Amino acid sequence: MQRFGKYLWIIVLLAGFGLCRPSAAWAHDDICAICGRPIQGTIYLMTDKVTGEKVLVCSDCIKLPLCSICGLPVKDNGVALPDGRHLCARDAKTVVLKAANIEQICGQVKDDLDRLFSRFTSFPTNVDVTVIDRIDVDSMFYTEGNGSESPDLLGCIRPETVNDTTRYKMSLLIGMPLAQLKETCAHEYSHAWVGENVPKERRARLGRDAEEGFCEMVGYLLMDSQNEEVEKKRVLHNHYTRGQIDLFIEAEKRYGFDQVLDWMKYGVAAQLEPGHVDALRDVKLPPAKSVASSPAIYSRTNKPAPAIIKLDGVLWGSRPVAIINGRSFTANDLNPVKVGGTNVIIRCLGIQKTSVRIQNVDSGKEQELSLPAN
Ligand SMILES: [Zn+2]
Ligand SMILES: [Zn+2]
Repeated sequence: MQRFGKYLWIIVLLAGFGLCRPSAAWAHDDICAICGRPIQGTIYLMTDKVTGEKVLVCSDCIKLPLCSICGLPVKDNGVALPDGRHLCARDAKTVVLKAANIEQICGQVKDDLDRLFSRFTSFPTNVDVTVIDRIDVDSMFYTEGNGSESPDLLGCIRPETVNDTTRYKMSLLIGMPLAQLKETCAHEYSHAWVGENVPKERRARLGRDAEEGFCEMVGYLLMDSQNEEVEKKRVLHNHYTRGQIDLFIEAEKRYGFDQVLDWMKYGVAAQLEPGHVDALRDVKLPPAKSVASSPAIYSRTNKPAPAIIKLDGVLWGSRPVAIINGRSFTANDLNPVKVGGTNVIIRCLGIQKTSVRIQNVDSGKEQELSLPAN
């Protein structure tokens, strides 16, 4: 559940030192991108991790501290954070440095996620957000005994259960660019969604990279909805999920978000495989009584269950709710309903003012239910 900016130091080292060449091989007007002076001596080729651009750096500037966002050396016009990180002047303008702002932005992210995916699900409300810096990250890893070098963590989330009540503690790194902060927050919210919605038995079989891929996909789709192209690129280019992110994006495009959610909850495979994204349709629904229930807004009574599936009512609004055999459904919901002495799992395909279209998940049969005319 911890996320890292990928291979920051490795890339810098390769770009900075692996590819350095003597200046003799270059024209004499090579200019250092950091100090703006002609380069004498060794030229270092570095990659700006924000723009993806390759830039030339002189042997003086290569010794400067590196920007924690773009990875390039920071001249005197940069910003030094209290936790030891440095930001170049350009990237300092894009980062969020106030804890109160980070908490407020996270609240907005949760609202944006709920709106974006309102047809399919909602995200947990039992989440507390705290802000951490590099020193907190270092101490987290020091106390966990993972050695002295802590990874480049952007955020993490962990459940805490007290007296049967679970709350998720989300930690986000201060000093991320706004779009990256939003994506990271959406990613961590998705872990909380998994914690709240995926049955324990399925969670034990679900691959770690697959869960991370799912969370990255949610963050990616949020960024897509807000036209954050640079952040979308960053998500696709990091190797954090070992390729699962690309497969999840492909699967979502092909089969839809609701099918991805079903696979997360009831899928057979531990992760998605290249060339076999169609395995997303292999879901094994548990016996009806243990299907995770959505909160019913219709009070259930002790009356015997009807012998047929029938539409009891429709609550019409921006998000219509249908009551079927005493059970509430929004579009795309999958729930068991009591029919006679047994449970039947049905999916609500669509809701009209006086009718609903449903599918019997076991048989695949679709049918239309209408309100009794009276
Ligand atoms: Zn220079
Ligand atoms: Zn920078």
